[in-house]
This record gives sequence, C-alpha cells and structure tokens, in this order.
Amino acid sequence: MTYQPIIGLEVHVELKTKSKLFCGCPAEHFGTKPNTQTCPVCLGLPGALPVPNKKAVDWTILLGLALNCSIHKVSRFDRKNYFYPDLPKGYQISQYDEPLASKGFVKIDTKKIRIRRVHLEEDAGKLLHEEVNGVKSTLVDFNRSGVALVEIVTEPDVRSSEEARTFLKKMRQIARYLGISDGDMEKGTMRLEPNISVKLETRNTKHEDDLPPYKVEIKNINSFNFAKKAIDFEIARQVSLLEKGETPLQETRGWDEKKGVTVSQRGKGEAHDYRYFPEPDIPPMEFSKSQIENLRSQIPELAEEKIARFIREYNLSQYDAEILCDSRERAEYYESTIRELKNLRIKELTEKTVANWIINKKVDTSKVAPEDLVKMIAATTQTTSMPDEELEKIIKEVISKNPKAVADYQGGKEQALMFLIGQVMRETKGKRGFDKMKTVIEQRLNA
Ligand code: ZN
Ligand code: MN
Repeated sequence: MTYQPIIGLEVHVELKTKSKLFCGCPAEHFGTKPNTQTCPVCLGLPGALPVPNKKAVDWTILLGLALNCSIHKVSRFDRKNYFYPDLPKGYQISQYDEPLASKGFVKIDTKKIRIRRVHLEEDAGKLLHEEVNGVKSTLVDFNRSGVALVEIVTEPDVRSSEEARTFLKKMRQIARYLGISDGDMEKGTMRLEPNISVKLETRNTKHEDDLPPYKVEIKNINSFNFAKKAIDFEIARQVSLLEKGETPLQETRGWDEKKGVTVSQRGKGEAHDYRYFPEPDIPPMEFSKSQIENLRSQIPELAEEKIARFIREYNLSQYDAEILCDSRERAEYYESTIRELKNLRIKELTEKTVANWIINKKVDTSKVAPEDLVKMIAATTQTTSMPDEELEKIIKEVISKNPKAVADYQGGKEQALMFLIGQVMRETKGKRGFDKMKTVIEQRLNA
C-alpha cells in the first residue's frame, strides 16, 4: 500500500494597478499609514457604488490567456457573503459561476497542471494585532480593502510540496513577465492556499478520478519555504491518521511557523454557505472576439518560449537559458549584450561566453551597461599594454570619483566591483587585460 498526496492549489495574486478594483483609491498599500487610502466604496459605506477598473479586468484576461485558458464571452461579478471584521460590507465582490477565464493548463517540468479557473475579486482589509494603551487589541487597516486580486484555482493535479513550489514560482514568473503583479510572497502580493488530501492507493483504487472523501485547506502561507514545510507536515499528519484507520476531518487549518505545525481553525464550508448571488450594482461584462484577440497580441514572449529560443539561437545549455530567462529584465539584458557583441565582431567571443559572464561573475545588470560588459569581456582577450603607472592613475581617479560604489563594495556588495571595472575600462580603452585591472582595483579597494 502506498499513500498518494492529492493537492489542488489556490493562488491569490494582487494586481499592481494604480487604483483599487472598484474605486479610485491608490492600490499600493505596502508600508502605508493605516486607513489613509480609503473612501466610501472600499469602506463599504451605505449607498456607495462600485465601478470596475478596466485595467484589472484586462490583466486578468491577459493572465488567463497566458495560462492557456478559454476566456468567457460573458462574465459577471457575484457577492460572496460572509462575516469578518476586515470585510466591512459583509460580502466580498468576487466571481462565482461566470469567471473571466477557465480550463487552462501550465507546464511545470514535463507535467501539466490543469487550471480550473481564473477570476477577479477584491482583497479584504488587514487585521493588526497590537497593544494599545497596554491592552492587547485587534485593529483593522482598510488600505488593502478593495485592491484587485486575481484568484487562480488548479485541478488537484499536484502530487508533492516540490511540485507546488515549482508551480508557485512559475506563477510568479508569468505574472512578472506580464508586468501585472510583483508576485512577492513576503509582501503578501502572492498568497497560497493549498487543498490537501491523501489517497490510499491499493491495486483496485488506481482510478485517477477517485478523490478522497475529505480535503484540508491550509491558510496563511506567505513564503515559498513555508509552503513546502506546511504541505509536507500536512501530508505526514494525514498519513498517520489514515494508518490508524481514521479519516482526517474536512477543515481549514493554519500554518504555525514557530511550532512547525498546522493547526485546526474551523470546519471547511461549502460554496452554498456563502449564498453567492449576482452583484446587482455591476452589469455583466461582455467581450468580443476582437477584444480578446487584441489582448492576446499583447502577451510578450514568456519564459518557456524564450528559454527554447535561447537554446536554439545562442547555443546555450538548458541550465544557462533558464537562469538568464528567470526574469524578463535579465533576458533582455543578455540579448542587448549579444547585439553589442555582434557590433564588435570579435571572433573568439561567443554568446556562451557572455552567458557565462552574466551568470558566474554576478554582473549587476542594473549598473553595468551592456556595451561596457562587452568591452570588459573583450579586454580579457587583449594583450595590448599600457604602462602600470598609467593604469594605477586611472584607477585612483575612478575610485575617487565614485565614492558610492566604493562604499557599496566595501560594505559587501560585490557587484559594485564590476561597475568600477567598467569605469576603468572606459578610460583604458581596452589597452589592459581584464584580470590585471581587476587585481589592481581589488588591491586598492582592500588596502
Ligand atoms: Zn476606495
Ligand atoms: Mn479568493
């Protein structure tokens, strides 16, 4: 007998639109003074009317398309009713049976994770547990209330904490490539709620569709690390119950990072408990084929295609291509460097050399311009000389002109060294080899 974890994921991604989903308040709330970004709409005051943010709707569709989903021609907002102090209206405007997108998939490694749905909803406020005048109190900050949130729900296709993490990273990468969210788990702009159950696999229950009669949802996971630990803990907890002949309860549990355990929070409700009904203040949304196709044309080349193209066009290994395409900015930096390299026409320098430099020498791509990087790389192949005294003089000047970079380097920022080398290269015009220059600069800085 073997135990098979069956995991479905719910990922919430906060969109980085300028304003909130249904009002004009600023959406960026991280580090803001509590309750300074609110209005009657996001405070849920009587009579206030929501007006949907077009960009948030477009971005949700964009994400749906990037996740290979079908986009629904008609979509609608619904009210999800429940009580919680961070939800002043007593309901959340979400989407129920007519989400913006559904039935897609994402490839992680060689496996496909099916996407059940992608919908748009508003975020809730935030509870702050603080001491006020010596009394332990719970305060509510509504700056986050009404911020646009996309929820992505997968089918129960995930089988391990490792796969869950890979999926999450992929989700973050896609959101960042699309430029719709920073997908930062630590800041709470990407949050995970996995549904976990464990299936006892015997020879006659090998049907993929037979799901266990219960599932446990875990809340409050705000880092990639916790995601892995929480899922592993929960699988082990359920297996030990099953081994005793018990069936785990269907419930919602929270991750307690200090104790390293999941803790029961409440019984898990069913959808009908929320009394979903169509939001009467917002008419249904309709999309024409051309609107959808227009959005599709705005999807940039995503990491998966970029990696394949880098391997093909630049002869890189899968590993190198993956590192370079980890972020869109880094991939674009690499390609600009390649263009500079082609202008120089130095035969010994290949695309592979440039990749090695960016990956192994920790080039700070925000500080070293692509043309300077190419010059640095080119210098490694050159032997023309310049007297040592002259080199020393140039280095001295560069050091005195760039106190910030020097301080950064001395403070432990290794990337600052590359910036300084770049400045020296501009002056030496390739007359000195890279290694010699690097050595002298390091000596000066460490003196
Ligand atoms: Zn507002
Ligand atoms: Mn949700």
